[in-house]
Amino acid sequence: MSSQPHGKPIPVPDEASRPFFEGMKDHQLVIMRCPSGHWRMPASRRCPVCWSLEFSWERASGRGKVYTFAIMHQVLHPGFIDEAPYNVTVVELDEGPRYQANLVGIANDRIQVGMPVVATYEDVGGDVTLLRFAPV
Ligand SMILES: [Zn+2]
Repeated sequence: MSSQPHGKPIPVPDEASRPFFEGMKDHQLVIMRCPSGHWRMPASRRCPVCWSLEFSWERASGRGKVYTFAIMHQVLHPGFIDEAPYNVTVVELDEGPRYQANLVGIANDRIQVGMPVVATYEDVGGDVTLLRFAPV
């Protein structure tokens, strides 16, 4: 993790995740897929379903649904003081993988498990774009 000018931690891509973050910069959700068609996210050496070491990076739909969520009232990092309470949402992509992100464009008390969402992208500076989700 690194820090943005306003003090929030941001991810630092490594070799394994670099294609994902390059896709983010183009506002595309690009994730790993094994030759048998299993999607994997986050990046991992082996397919969690068939253990294949082979993969390609492919564009996913960006569509999914809320699998679960939590509302964070406690500020665990000073960069989030102005945002609490904020949501941390687990989205299940239509392709299968689950990803933890913030849901934007909706009040916390309107979030519901199962609601359809779509990927959205936040350019945060420093050549980094973060994945968020928004209601469809
Ligand atoms: Zn597989």
